[in-house]
Amino acid sequence: MLGGDGAFPSPGGACSGYLVEHDGFRLLIDPGYATFPALVKRVRADQVDAVLVSHGHPDHCADLNPLLRARTLRARPVPPLPVYALADALGPVLGLDRVGMLDRAIVRHEIDPGNHLAIGPFHVATASLPHFLPNVGVRLRAGGETLAYTGDSGPSPNVTPLAEGVDLFLAEATYIDDEAEESQAASLSSAFQRGEVARRAGARRLLLTHIWPGTDRDELEHAARREFSGVVGTVEPGMVVDLTPRTTGHEPF
Ligand SMILES: [Zn+2]
Repeated sequence: MLGGDGAFPSPGGACSGYLVEHDGFRLLIDPGYATFPALVKRVRADQVDAVLVSHGHPDHCADLNPLLRARTLRARPVPPLPVYALADALGPVLGLDRVGMLDRAIVRHEIDPGNHLAIGPFHVATASLPHFLPNVGVRLRAGGETLAYTGDSGPSPNVTPLAEGVDLFLAEATYIDDEAEESQAASLSSAFQRGEVARRAGARRLLLTHIWPGTDRDELEHAARREFSGVVGTVEPGMVVDLTPRTTGHEPF
């Protein structure tokens, strides 16, 4: 977990960014603000094999720019990086540099929500989820383990099928309970709502992310636990989550 701050990074923190590894393949989901420094503490920029972007808000994709710069502004540029995103999601971030500068650093793959993708060892199911901008939720499967990620989204019947029986439900929780203003409530979710989905879907663990800087994490987790009796946590930068089911002992985060 590179970061889990919503909207803007907290001191020393980072916005959405999740490095998912299987069989040596590294898929970076959502290179949000300040995730690049967190990423290169763990791996080199040229060790990322693919990127998937849920939507075009900068707290989910701004650090694609330094990642592409680091891969191309060097004596021997590395092969172009496959980047999976919805149509038009990457226009603003790719427009930060002069026209053509990053062309050879990236191979763009357009996500058509509802379709399935194969990214390295990952089988990826996709679904459109409601947000201020088009947003795609994903369900990843590799080696028998599963992970669902919402991006940012309001409540939707499409969320539960993504999270059905997953080992890890990584879910945006901007709010604790029902404090969202009406204008926001259709596009963002609360920890309580995510707990409800995790229970209905039979998820094994629920990890809350996109946490508004300053929000009390205990309150977020408590709200989710009112509905969900499985393991609940909140994303911390540097956190590593092993998706392999434990056969003995308590499952930690
Ligand atoms: Zn957003």
